Amino acid sequence: MMAAGGQQSSKPILVKTPDEIKIMQDANQIVAEVLSMLLRVTEPGISTFDLDKMAEELCRKRNSVPAFKGYHGFPNSLCVSVNEEVVHGIPSRKRKLKKGDILSVDFGVCYKGFFGDSAVTIPVGKIKKPVHDLLRVTRESLELGIKQVVIGNRISDISRAVQDHGEAGGYSIVRQFVGHGIGASLHEGPEVPNFVSKGQSPRLIEGMVIAIEPMINMGTHKVKVLRDGWTVITADKKVSAHFEHSVAVTADGPLVLSTRN
Ligand code: MG
Ligand code: MG
Repeated sequence: MMAAGGQQSSKPILVKTPDEIKIMQDANQIVAEVLSMLLRVTEPGISTFDLDKMAEELCRKRNSVPAFKGYHGFPNSLCVSVNEEVVHGIPSRKRKLKKGDILSVDFGVCYKGFFGDSAVTIPVGKIKKPVHDLLRVTRESLELGIKQVVIGNRISDISRAVQDHGEAGGYSIVRQFVGHGIGASLHEGPEVPNFVSKGQSPRLIEGMVIAIEPMINMGTHKVKVLRDGWTVITADKKVSAHFEHSVAVTADGPLVLSTRN
């Protein structure tokens, strides 16, 4: 994810060749493997530091490099965001997960010069029904957004699909952070907001690859950054969910590069 507006909005949109998309699929499959592993091992008592360590080891074993480590100074490989944390949480030995928590794990790699990026929010043990519903609706919003990845559509068609479903569930959509183009850089143009804004957004053309990543809150859409300079939390401390896939625009429709088995 990245901050909305600012210089990112002027980043170029770079179209990929089928060969490049294949490499990006390999990169994203490493990410998917890591997230699947994290889904298996996440349980009450494990620390977010342990998860980060496992993710980095698996990534390096696959001859890839963790994309977030050192990115603008981020200290770790995995972003771990618990409960009211939205994104960019920093792994810590002291942060042990508890039953009833939810954990967003966001992971990225660079493989053969191309990036993969995907995220999932995991329930820790049994979670409350309203929180479960938030996770379900956020995941569905991502799926509905992906369905709009069709040549000739605009980015705003994706944004609208995500926003409509999230808001119909009674939730609010984070505005300060958005999805993004991805390729030989982690963050390229275009921005992929999870809400519709004024003005015309770019059209989808064959060979574009975008990371769609709804961040949806139980309460207010407002967020703030903690003093560690990274962790984004909801302003009202209510829980937040985050799901992300990297998706290529193809003549056959959306190709989800980061699909998990
Ligand atoms: Mg991303
Ligand atoms: Mg991500």
